[in-house]
Amino acid sequence: MPTDRIAVAVSGGKDSVSLLHILHKIEIGFPKSELLAITIDEGISGYRDEAVQIAAENCKKLGIEHVVSSFKELYNYDLDDVVETAEDKGGLSACTYCGVLRRKALNVAARRIGAEKLATAHTLDDETQTILLNLLRGNVAWLARLEPVLEGERFVRRVKPLCEVPEAETAFYAFLKKVKFQSSTCPYMRSSTRNDVRAFLNELETKHPGTKFAVYRSFEKISLSVRVLADDIGLKECDVCGEPTVGQTCRACQVLLELGMLNR
Ligand code: SF4
Ligand code: ZN
Repeated sequence: MPTDRIAVAVSGGKDSVSLLHILHKIEIGFPKSELLAITIDEGISGYRDEAVQIAAENCKKLGIEHVVSSFKELYNYDLDDVVETAEDKGGLSACTYCGVLRRKALNVAARRIGAEKLATAHTLDDETQTILLNLLRGNVAWLARLEPVLEGERFVRRVKPLCEVPEAETAFYAFLKKVKFQSSTCPYMRSSTRNDVRAFLNELETKHPGTKFAVYRSFEKISLSVRVLADDIGLKECDVCGEPTVGQTCRACQVLLELGMLNR
């Protein structure tokens, strides 16, 4: 809508910073709309502080209001604390916790600032990795939540304007426009399954150009059937925190309960 208050999730990496610059350029033509930026500080020592700083610098340059929300503030723990506890208890990977907790944190922050839309910088690469990851893990219902436009009660409508843009193109845009972004990688990245899937897809794309688009198009074709499955499940309110969830308890509360980092 031309009057929308749009929040952009800005991590400080090339994809999100490029998206911020592109949306800012477009938004200038819609004087009744508003653009804000949200950065989630997961609490990753030696990495996230620089990213938050870069996100802030880009917002200042563009004259965009910047809101920073942290895991510590929302969950009482940094991601580093969660990972340390998970290691002791043989838990999941850092990226799994990070993704689950960030997803909820973004929704809470966007709702708090009264955003009507939440734009995330998921690229074609992110989307195809998530499709394969969910297939590999048997999470068919999760695939239904992957559509480019998502909405539900208490769930700020999510849009992914870059979902068909390869990551290489956002990097190219950032370099061409001399946009400042964080180039160092997260210390937890190497240990993730997503990293293996990323390497696999990149190798396939090099040998067989068009593979990523083919995976995405296949997903579009099956998404209608998958959607029926998600509709059957329906969105409810988490019995612990009240956030939207497909089950009794949202995934964020579930993982923290399993680790003993949250009380009912
Ligand atoms: Fe989070 Fe993993 Fe990304 Fe690091 S690499 S920011 S832990 S999702
Ligand atoms: Zn919850």
